[in-house]
Amino acid sequence: MVEALLEKPSSQRYHEGIFSALKEQDSQVYELITKEYERLQNSLQLIAAANQCSRAVLAALGSVVQNKTAEGFPGARHHGGCEVVDDVEKLALDRAKDAFGAKYANVQPHSGSQANQIVLAVLLERGDKVLSLGVEQGGHPSHGGPGSLAGKFFKIENYHVDKTSFLLDYDAIREQAVKVKPKLIMCGASAYARKIDFKRFREIADSVGAYLLADISHIAGLIMAGAHPSPIDYAHFTTTSTYKSGGPRGGLILMGKDYDLQTKVSGRDMPLWKCIQDATFPGVQGTPYFNHIAAKAVFFEETLSDEYKARQFKIIENAKRLASDLLDLRYDVLTGGTDNHMILINMENSREALTGATAQKCLEDCGIIVDMMKLPYDGKQASITSGIRLGTPIVTRNGMGTNEMDSISVLIDTVLRAVEIISDRQYKISESVKNETRDKAKELCSKFPMR
Ligand SMILES: *Cc1c(COP(=O)(O)O)cnc(C)c1O
Repeated sequence: MVEALLEKPSSQRYHEGIFSALKEQDSQVYELITKEYERLQNSLQLIAAANQCSRAVLAALGSVVQNKTAEGFPGARHHGGCEVVDDVEKLALDRAKDAFGAKYANVQPHSGSQANQIVLAVLLERGDKVLSLGVEQGGHPSHGGPGSLAGKFFKIENYHVDKTSFLLDYDAIREQAVKVKPKLIMCGASAYARKIDFKRFREIADSVGAYLLADISHIAGLIMAGAHPSPIDYAHFTTTSTYKSGGPRGGLILMGKDYDLQTKVSGRDMPLWKCIQDATFPGVQGTPYFNHIAAKAVFFEETLSDEYKARQFKIIENAKRLASDLLDLRYDVLTGGTDNHMILINMENSREALTGATAQKCLEDCGIIVDMMKLPYDGKQASITSGIRLGTPIVTRNGMGTNEMDSISVLIDTVLRAVEIISDRQYKISESVKNETRDKAKELCSKFPMR
C-alpha cells in the first residue's frame, strides 16, 4: 500500500486527489468516513449544536497548510518560512473582524472551550469569583461546570433561569452579582431558546465592576446575520466555537470597543487585547492549526454573502414552525416557542413516563437524530434527563423549509406515540413503525442532498 503511494506519477501534485489517496492507503478509515457520510445523508439531523460546512471549507481543512509549524502571531513567529501562513492568518483575522464588526479577533483557539479558557487565564487568579449560568440550567461546562478546569481553580457561582417562565431574570442576576461581587460574569448558553440581552448583562457587570464575557457559540451565525442582537461592543470579550454556525471546528475570540482598555496584569499595564494574545500563546496553546485557520477564513467570507444571511433567518423561521407544530401536537415546548435555532421540549410533561434518553434513542432507531437534554429544574439524572433539544441549522442548510418542518413534526409524533415505555431507558418500538419512519426520513433527506 505504501508502495502504491510512492509510485505516484511525479506530475501529480502532493495535494491533488487526496481522497483517493486515503482510499488506496487505508480502506478501513475510508469506509468509516463513507459510512458516516451515508448516515448524515440518510437521516434527519436535528442536533442544535451541529452544522454542516461548505465543500470549500472542507477542502481548506484537508490542505497543505496543515503541515506548517509556526508558534506565535503573524509577523512575530518563532519558526522560519511563515510568510504564507502569516497571510492566511491575517486574511482570517480581517474577515472575522468584518463578519462580526469587531475591533480585535483571535483565530487561534482550537475550540470554543479553549477560547473560554484563554479569557479566564487572562483575567483570573486562583480563587477569583465567576458568575455564570449553571450547566444544568442551559450553561456550558467551560463556564465553570463541575469537573471543568475553571471549576477546579476558580470560585464559581451560578445564576439561574426563572422557575416558572424558564427565562433569564435580569433583576435576580443583578441582585446576585451585587452579593457575589464576581471578577467576571459569563453569559451565553447551550440550551436557551430565547434572546439574550447583552446590554443588560453589561449594565450588571458595570454596576459591580466585573468583566463581561459573552459566549455566543450557539448563536454566532444568527448574530453575524443580524438575526440576534450582537454582544461585540457590550461584552469585554466575545467567544465562540466556529462549527455551530457552519464553519470548521475551532474557536474564536473577538473584542469590540474595549479592546485596548489598559489593564494591570501581574504588575504590568497592558491593553486587554495584548493580554489575550499572551494568554493564547504561550498561555494555553502551542502551535496554531493553519488548516483550521484557512478554513475559518473561507467560512467568514461565506458569512458575508446574502445566501448565508438569509439562511440564518430561515433557520429561525423553521425552528419557530417546528416548535408551533409540536405545541399543536401537545408537546411541552419550553417558553412556548423559540427566538433562535433551537427547541427545548419537556418529554415527561408531554407523555407520561417518557424520558429524554428514551426519546433520543427511539427517534434515532427511526432515522431522526436529536439530543437528550437536562432542562432547568430537571429532577432526572444527566444520563436520562426529562428533555430533548432540537435544532434546525442542518436541515435548513440543505434546503428544507416550513413544509418539511410539518412533515418532521408528524414523524417525531408518530414515533413518540408508538413507543412502548418499559423504564427510564428501556422501551419497545414495533419493527413496522421503525422501518416506515426510517424510510420516510430517508426519502425526505434524499430530496435535500448535503451541500
Ligand atoms: C458548544 C459550546 C462551547 C464549546 O465549543 P467547543 O468548540 O465544542 O469546545 C462553548 N460554549 C458554549 C455556550 C457552547 O454551546
